[in-house]
Amino acid sequence: MSTPVVELQNVAKEYGPVVAVEDVSLSVQKGEFVVLLGPSGSGKTTLLSMLGGFTLPTRGQILIDGADVTGVAPAQRPTVTVFQDYALFPHMTVKDNVAFGLAMRRVPKPQRTELANAALTQVGLADFGDRRIHEISGGQRQRVALARAIVIEPAVLLLDEPLGALDVKIRRQMQNELHTLQRELNATFIHVTHDQEEAMSLADTIVLLNHGRIEDSGPPERIYREPASVFAATFMGDTNIIRGTIAKSGRGNVTVDTALGTLKCHGQGEPGEAVSLSVRPEAIRCGAANGPDRVKLGSGRLSDFVFQGTFRRCLAATGPDASVQLQLRLPLDTQAGSDAPTPIWTRSTDIVVLRESSE
Ligand code: ADP
Ligand code: MG
Repeated sequence: MSTPVVELQNVAKEYGPVVAVEDVSLSVQKGEFVVLLGPSGSGKTTLLSMLGGFTLPTRGQILIDGADVTGVAPAQRPTVTVFQDYALFPHMTVKDNVAFGLAMRRVPKPQRTELANAALTQVGLADFGDRRIHEISGGQRQRVALARAIVIEPAVLLLDEPLGALDVKIRRQMQNELHTLQRELNATFIHVTHDQEEAMSLADTIVLLNHGRIEDSGPPERIYREPASVFAATFMGDTNIIRGTIAKSGRGNVTVDTALGTLKCHGQGEPGEAVSLSVRPEAIRCGAANGPDRVKLGSGRLSDFVFQGTFRRCLAATGPDASVQLQLRLPLDTQAGSDAPTPIWTRSTDIVVLRESSE
């Protein structure tokens, strides 16, 4: 692998007794789209702010293009930050906002205009250069903020919840555009969000943060299919967690004693060890469980059907005295009523075994 464009080595940030970021190490490759994902307060903004030079780490080192920039001021770094509130100059025109950073870098005027126009074209605002900020929409302001950042051609573009203020439809559209733009520029983007759908639609690599630590990191599909912890499983979409104890293990398989019976699944662990099993709602089916890899999850009544367009969401009450409630996402053609108890099952390959210690 080539030299990473960004490298964090054991970076931590404490505010008195508050640990905002605790021992984060991370490498980012050139041209990678990295999304820092996590709930509110998990340390995303603090981490991004240390990358941008606005916050000094308590410990650790930050390298960009191989150089230690840990204590270097924002303007002296090859990074640009797009803030959530865009921080545009309301009294200036769109074009002057975009050209502002170039002026600071003493780029001559004719060249500034040319570069600003090119950046505005790239974000689809070629005809808006002479407008003032209050004369354009929220989505357009977002694009101006983006144009102002890319015009500098930073080695790394840092984005803190840049789509957070937009309504859902424009947000989805901007996600697509941001993705396309990043590919066109072949630039390195580090993007913060608390929205797992946004993270999945943008990222080459998701870095999932929880309490200032990296809980899991990797391609979205891997984190979704094989989360590293209960937190990762539940944060990356809906899931069912079934607790149990390993009864037997060997050859990459374990059998786990649970309230739903003894379940056989792929995984590792020692007999006696407490584990949590994660099964996605779309991986649970109802009806006869015939087939070698099918694992019975008891039987139960289905209730609370909700039509969701491409599937039907419902609940199944299974286990002893119907004490275990599972969420299901059934294909629309599933023949399932709510009167009689129905067998509930999944595939052994759809069960992820998570150690309790990784919670
Ligand atoms: P996120 O962006 O994921 O919501 P932040 O990085 O903003 O999280 O915050 C992480 C933690 O650090 C939170 O508990 C927050 O209250 C705390 N924190 C952030 N900035 C400061 C500060 N300047 N002073 C004290 N505590 C802070
Ligand atoms: Mg934040």
